[in-house]
Amino acid sequence: MFEHIQAAPADPILGLNDAYKKDPNPNKINLGVGVFKDEQGNTPILNAVKQAEKRLLAEETTKNYLSIEGAPAYRSAVQTLLFGHNHPIITKQLAQTAHTPGGTGALRVAAEFIKKHLPEATIWVSNPTWANHQSVFQSVGLEVGSYAYYDANAKSLDFEAMLASLSQVPEGDVVLFHGCCHNPTGIDPTPEQWYQLAKLCSKQGFLPLFDFAYQGFGQGLQEDAQGLRTFLEYVPEMLIASSFSKNFGLYNERVGALTILCETAEQADTAFTQIKRCIRTNYSNPPSHGSAVVAEILNDKELYALWESELKGMRLRIHEMRSLFVNTLRAKGVIQDFSFISHQQGMFSFSGLTPEQVTQLRKEYGIYIVGSGRISVAGMTHDNMGPLCDGIAAVLKS
Ligand code: PMP
Repeated sequence: MFEHIQAAPADPILGLNDAYKKDPNPNKINLGVGVFKDEQGNTPILNAVKQAEKRLLAEETTKNYLSIEGAPAYRSAVQTLLFGHNHPIITKQLAQTAHTPGGTGALRVAAEFIKKHLPEATIWVSNPTWANHQSVFQSVGLEVGSYAYYDANAKSLDFEAMLASLSQVPEGDVVLFHGCCHNPTGIDPTPEQWYQLAKLCSKQGFLPLFDFAYQGFGQGLQEDAQGLRTFLEYVPEMLIASSFSKNFGLYNERVGALTILCETAEQADTAFTQIKRCIRTNYSNPPSHGSAVVAEILNDKELYALWESELKGMRLRIHEMRSLFVNTLRAKGVIQDFSFISHQQGMFSFSGLTPEQVTQLRKEYGIYIVGSGRISVAGMTHDNMGPLCDGIAAVLKS
């Protein structure tokens, strides 16, 4: 029965992580997978999470199923985080939110919903984009197209080309935007550019799908929602995939959400019944623990303040590593200009390293970077910065 099955190619990011774990080199450095690390190279549990868990453990009385869409306290807290406190979308009930297993779960449910209810739609993703986007959408049979985003020579956003590509997207198609901290380039549109994109979206009539996986990792919780909130002023319908893996450090709890925004509350209710149907036939209902932690934190003033300060700590550490990386490379005699890395947002940067250089770094120096040259800045520490920059300086010279 199974003898004809061919092995699937290794996942470009998680496969790299497996190779890293197997490498016996004691000085190996992992800049592959997008997971926050502290100065000791650990991925810590936030204190706000620990405190919320303590309360939950003391108070929980049942392990009964959640409903298909998840817990009400979580669903409303997610909307407040996205839209802002008491936003008219919330008071008019124009949006409905379902708790999904992580941001990937949200994207997958969104993909099934789009395929079923907008069957003619092509979904457009930025070039480049997170490696899993294409696979998630193709796995439900959606056509995936790409729009211009990155200028590899200038190491910046090619906004003119982006606008030109999106001007070709017809009404009824779907366009995926990274809410902030674009993965893999670390380059986001400016507030003025978001405004132009929102106006273009309204003019063209395509549906925006915001993938919001790093709220708070760029400039701050409210600042990072600015692109999304600009769209709200011009576009009455959208889908939003949230992930709380990074900003709450809840990676393995699988906490995310899919939010649908409609023109009326009635439309939102109706469309939501179909989203719930996708969920019911997929994983039936979400896991409880992670969302209970997030709701406990977001709905409690003290825990919220603690979480926000811990999130700020993570954000500032990444900003510090960006500057230190640029300065250390310069100090090691690297003549190429890497200063663009210090202006980027979130965990990732497109380093401009070639696939050959990436392979050489792995084989000769135990430095693990995704083949595209994307580096996860969060894997850098004061301790590994020297050896890391030595390795990069060596491959750039060879
Ligand atoms: N979207 C983007 C842009 C991401 O970078 C990630 C995580 N790497 C996800 C979605 C998925 O998040 P999760 O781990 O919560 O499934």
